[in-house]
Amino acid sequence: MASILRNSIRAATRPQRLTAVRTFTSSPCVRSEGLVMPSLDNFTEEEQMLREAVRRFATDVVGPKVRDMDENESMDPAVIQGLFDQGLMGIETSAELGGSESSFTSAIIAVEELAKIDPSVSVMCDVHNTLINTIFRTYGTKEQQAKFLPLLAGSQLGSFCLSEPVSGSDAFALQTRAKKDGDHWVINGSKMWITNSYEAGIFLIFANIDPSRGYKGITCFAATRDMGIEIAKKEKKLGIRASSTCTLNFDDLRIPAENVIGGEGKGYKIAIDILNEGRIGIAAQMLGLAQGAFDKAVPYTYTRKQFGQSIGTFQGMQFQIAQAAIDLETARLLTYNAARRKEEGKPFVKEAAMAKYWASVVAQRVSGQAIEWAGGVGFTRETGIEKFWRDSKIGAIYEGTSNIQLQTIAKFIQKEYS
Ligand SMILES: Cc1cc2nc3c(=O)[nH]c(=O)nc-3n(C[C@H](O)[C@H](O)[C@H](O)COP(=O)(O)OP(=O)(O)OC[C@H]3O[C@@H](n4cnc5c(N)ncnc54)[C@H](O)[C@@H]3O)c2cc1C
Repeated sequence: MASILRNSIRAATRPQRLTAVRTFTSSPCVRSEGLVMPSLDNFTEEEQMLREAVRRFATDVVGPKVRDMDENESMDPAVIQGLFDQGLMGIETSAELGGSESSFTSAIIAVEELAKIDPSVSVMCDVHNTLINTIFRTYGTKEQQAKFLPLLAGSQLGSFCLSEPVSGSDAFALQTRAKKDGDHWVINGSKMWITNSYEAGIFLIFANIDPSRGYKGITCFAATRDMGIEIAKKEKKLGIRASSTCTLNFDDLRIPAENVIGGEGKGYKIAIDILNEGRIGIAAQMLGLAQGAFDKAVPYTYTRKQFGQSIGTFQGMQFQIAQAAIDLETARLLTYNAARRKEEGKPFVKEAAMAKYWASVVAQRVSGQAIEWAGGVGFTRETGIEKFWRDSKIGAIYEGTSNIQLQTIAKFIQKEYS
């Protein structure tokens, strides 16, 4: 039986031209010229260049502003402008429409690199690219793409407006309503927790046009700030404090009928699909955050001396640092694997949920340990390590709480095994 399986695997993977048969083990494997499968941390030249460019931008431009932005709970407009100037706000958008025409993995790399320096800037870029731009690219008509994507790549920040005071995890219980009035839709209701909304110019709003159809009435509308979106409240938060999170009110907000995205009643499908892939972005944010905390704290452990030696050379510390490095590696592999699966057109929803869940666990754990490794200094706001820990908490909440990720993973397992 085992040999039948082995032969069929070999037949399926047999290359056109055989080179050598290796007999290192009792089950020899056949290796072909040019058929070495790459490891998960393989990147194209373009992706590597993007990583370097984002790293430089994050370190040089964002880095010096992080503390003030956190203290002031506001995003420096120069940072937003910098993201546009660097081509980071239309990463997958075609060059014809003003974008960088790059890959999904590139967007993930950008989100990760920004999070190493500031998770607030990272989530701003993430929501804008992986939710807003992707909805227009995937579901927008040619006219909608031509109208909105160049603005989103060049100057206007985007917001994704799904959650409401009464509907969080149960997102499709939303209460915002849209009624047709001639060639317009009139929207009434409110949205809560909306990232980027304080600075945004473009809003994707989910509203129900026919509650009698339940979630099948949910429709996605593109709105601009000048249509009359009211910012009712800006939240004061534990972490990612420079990233704006607001409650929005819509009081007879009139939206042209041509701004319906993906068709009437298609909003629930858009939201599900987009959040499934958006989760890989949050995994990347959490991964970058954990790495950022690690990169700050570990060097300190080799300079700080107690009992006549560097604290990082005590076995108790070495083991913790090694375990954190393993945590980081597992989060990295899950995140890149989910991104590559999405790019390859393979099923990725379970993998995205795993990556998001695990990266948020790792982010909390590693950033918490990093504070301890730096002792009292780590507890002060001077080093910025404590900020990573505060920022890590949100990973288990937005774009589906950790329980919701586990529920998704469990549903797949049940399907596979029953
Ligand atoms: C900083 C921030 C930014 C955000 N940005 C956006 C944004 O840009 N756009 C947007 O639309 N939304 C945004 N959100 C909203 C976010 O997606 C929701 O907060 C999230 O989905 C959880 O919803 P909730 O807060 O209502 O919590 P609830 O749904 O009330 O959940 C509370 C607790 O109950 C648990 N729970 C709920 N249902 C179940 C279940 N079936 N099984 C097991 N446990 C369950 C949850 O896991 C959680 O632990 C943001 C939130 C925050 C805090």
